[in-house]
Amino acid sequence: MSDPILEARNVSRHFSVGGTLFRKPDTLRAVQDVSLSVQPGETLAIVGESGCGKSTLARMLMRLITPTSGELFFEGRHIESISGDDLTKLRGEMQFIFQDPFSSLNPRMSVGKLVGEPLETQRPDLSAKDRRAKVSELLAQVGLRPEHANRYPHEFSGGQRQRIGIARALASGPKLIIGDEPVSALDVSVQAQVVNLLADLKEQLGLTLVVIAHDLAVIRHMSDRVAVMYLGGIVEEGPCDRIFETPQHPYTMALLSAIPEAEYGIERQQIELSGETPSPIDPPPGCRFHTRCPFARERCRTEVPALRDAGPHHRAACHFFEEIASETGAPARLPEPRSAAAESRFSLYADALAGAPVRPREPET
Ligand code: SF4
Repeated sequence: MSDPILEARNVSRHFSVGGTLFRKPDTLRAVQDVSLSVQPGETLAIVGESGCGKSTLARMLMRLITPTSGELFFEGRHIESISGDDLTKLRGEMQFIFQDPFSSLNPRMSVGKLVGEPLETQRPDLSAKDRRAKVSELLAQVGLRPEHANRYPHEFSGGQRQRIGIARALASGPKLIIGDEPVSALDVSVQAQVVNLLADLKEQLGLTLVVIAHDLAVIRHMSDRVAVMYLGGIVEEGPCDRIFETPQHPYTMALLSAIPEAEYGIERQQIELSGETPSPIDPPPGCRFHTRCPFARERCRTEVPALRDAGPHHRAACHFFEEIASETGAPARLPEPRSAAAESRFSLYADALAGAPVRPREPET
């Protein structure tokens, strides 16, 4: 394995919430002791329920917020210690794609200005004419036309606005792009087009992608590796195929078994979770998942499970995953044919990844 492009070592982020004149604020542990690394050229998906800390982790990786403790490295350089011109350069090398393409684009700026703005900072050597040419090139790269540079974000559909966001992210020539739910606000057929575009750009430009997502069909089709988060920590990580076909952590099993229609194409024992996710202000001791885990035992209430080897490049944080995996049985393929809904979703993604036109098309503006 090569040196990681991005690495987090024991990173935590806490927030103070709810303090008054007479009461000390509580500490919300949004991310707790997370370590992960991203290899150049791979797509890492970070998945988990809403509120599990995945977006906070993404913002720390981008240096948009500072960790309370722990260290972050980009290409071996300690991110916190980078400043001045080197920080400007780093900001160009790491770019962010937001969930809501509309609110992330300034409605008063034309597309040409939105896409050209990062070039002013990252490429001050370009003349105005060269900058306009570069904007046209970037628009073409994401499937838009040069004349779109003169229009404003509200004139575009959701998928096209996300393309504008991607063109803006590409303007600084990034090595790494972090997408926070980059397609979740889009219609499913448009999602497939944007997934296709990201896969193409990754291939053409040698990009590395970190994708925060909750849609397991998206993750299944675009990721090389998956990290599963629960209540601020990573409970399982490994190659995408292994996570989907032989999950080891009960929380991952529950996430996968909760997908209606078994959209990812694998049937396994249903694992139902009881209760709500505990508050990150007062997380349970021992294994944080023990209040909802159907396999919890006494040891789970007191002892924090370490993230340990569960197969090639695969780790899980559970005291008993070996026993649980044999108890729940090996997963079996769904009998063919899949349901009509699952089949249509699969074919959309298959088309998208094969580079074929995806139906139905977005309305032209
Ligand atoms: Fe469940 Fe215990 Fe494993 Fe936690 S350590 S996931 S509570 S069996």
